[in-house]
Amino acid sequence: DSLGPTVTVGEILVEIVAKQTGTGFLEPIDLIGPFPSGAPAIFIDQCARVGGAAAIVGTVGDDDFGVVNTERLKRDGVDTSAIAVSPEYPTGSAFVRYREDGSRDFVYNIAKSAAARLEWTHEVEALITRCGHIHVMGTVFASPAAWEITEHAIALIKARGGTMSLDPNLRKELLTHGQTEEKFAALVDKADLLLPSGEELFLAAGVETENRAIEMLFNRGVKEIAIKRGKDGSSAYHRGGTHTNCPGFLVDEMDPTGAGDCFGGAYVACRRLGMPLEKALEFGNAAGARNVTRLGPMEGAGTRAELEEFITRTARRS
Ligand code: ATP
Ligand code: MG
Repeated sequence: DSLGPTVTVGEILVEIVAKQTGTGFLEPIDLIGPFPSGAPAIFIDQCARVGGAAAIVGTVGDDDFGVVNTERLKRDGVDTSAIAVSPEYPTGSAFVRYREDGSRDFVYNIAKSAAARLEWTHEVEALITRCGHIHVMGTVFASPAAWEITEHAIALIKARGGTMSLDPNLRKELLTHGQTEEKFAALVDKADLLLPSGEELFLAAGVETENRAIEMLFNRGVKEIAIKRGKDGSSAYHRGGTHTNCPGFLVDEMDPTGAGDCFGGAYVACRRLGMPLEKALEFGNAAGARNVTRLGPMEGAGTRAELEEFITRTARRS
């Protein structure tokens, strides 16, 4: 979009994955990684890969894990000028092991890592004052610094005529901490585009049926809603009356991490590039589905050409 790049703010991590399913990390096991990760990093990488102008505000440590992520984002075309390097804290990390039933065990180092040490620097100021869109992810509720920077950035970007999207990425349990509930409601009120999955649509609207929720959110100022439905695909609604569904692509799920973030990155980029709802939704679906076929949180993020090819040769659920 001519107004300037899409920006997101938040945790830049590496992920180290257990090669075999099972429970926990209580004995030596085979691991693979580091893979570049962190919901905002996955989102923005996919955004850039489909051809959207993209930038991120984040902090890494002065270590190889930081280089792994920053180099990947750079390679894929993300503006990394507002990624700071902490001289003191290590790059954030997450060890992940899938259990047989699909649930996961984690060992995190995020809250006490560089990922949580965001600051409003000159580089951040210079970037934000030329951005046209901000994508906010629910992970901001876990980091006071990310929240502060995001609020400030939303105000600046909206003041220059920019727009805002919100991927709630929230579970009901997280919302019961009073403050978060109010902050979440305030974000929904500022959002032009919402990208909920599962119960998040109902949490955002405060009602329990899809049609009612969409109507309520449009009345609160939201202009567009893209609903993620996992293997069943997605739907998009525009306040102007347009509505479209996209069935899921039939794929073998290797690693579900990052599907929602890739969907969002592709959808936001395609809409900002001027594509109609149906086209953006198809790219979003393809981005999410392609990403789950690769091990590693953003290893399956596709370029526009790769997604076009994926769309042509992959069957869909009907
Ligand atoms: P996450 O679990 O990463 O938070 P999410 O809940 O936000 O994700 P999902 O609905 O799981 O979002 O995935 C986003 C999109 O990716 C879906 O709408 C769908 O198009 C695609 N997708 C995800 N999983 C699959 C799958 N197993 N098969 C086909 N497509 C998938
Ligand atoms: Mg999600």
